[in-house]
Amino acid sequence: MKVVTLRCANCGAPLSVKHRVRFVTCNFCDSQLEIHRENSATYSAATEKVPEARTVKLEKSVERLQLTNELERLDQAWMISQELYMVSGKDGSRSVPSYFDGLLMMFVACGVIVAAVAIGRNAPFFRPIMYGWGFGAVIFIIKAIHTLVLANRYSAAHADYEQQRYDILARLGSTRQSNSRDSGARG
Ligand SMILES: [Zn+2]
Repeated sequence: MKVVTLRCANCGAPLSVKHRVRFVTCNFCDSQLEIHRENSATYSAATEKVPEARTVKLEKSVERLQLTNELERLDQAWMISQELYMVSGKDGSRSVPSYFDGLLMMFVACGVIVAAVAIGRNAPFFRPIMYGWGFGAVIFIIKAIHTLVLANRYSAAHADYEQQRYDILARLGSTRQSNSRDSGARG
């Protein structure tokens, strides 16, 4: 086979290039070179071709960027939906609905009903007031059930958010792992 000897366009080291070979790597400076054959002249020039390893690296960093953006979007979406689930306190503060609050309200309402029945039985004079207490307690129970339903919806949504976040973080982790594997294989 015909071999042409020419010089590296980057460092000037001698290169032995086989016939029809278009791309070579200089043994001295690692330059990626393209062999040009024009009429009688044959010479090397730095290639525009991106080495494969660098392409893979670029793809990985694009993927990481996309995943990071996805994570940011997920967090923002959660901030917004979290606001929708929140309940207003008496002082106007917003808080996440909790099972504890719902159960506490339920407990207080039941206590009020028990007290109202006991007082109404023993003191007929107070009965009309006790009806008022009972009515208030029933309203409070409805509120308690509403809080429990909201707490349930909130915890389901929160679990869903956490799962999605976990998945993205796992994918981010795997892009880092395979990246270090790549460089390990090269070295
Ligand atoms: Zn060279």
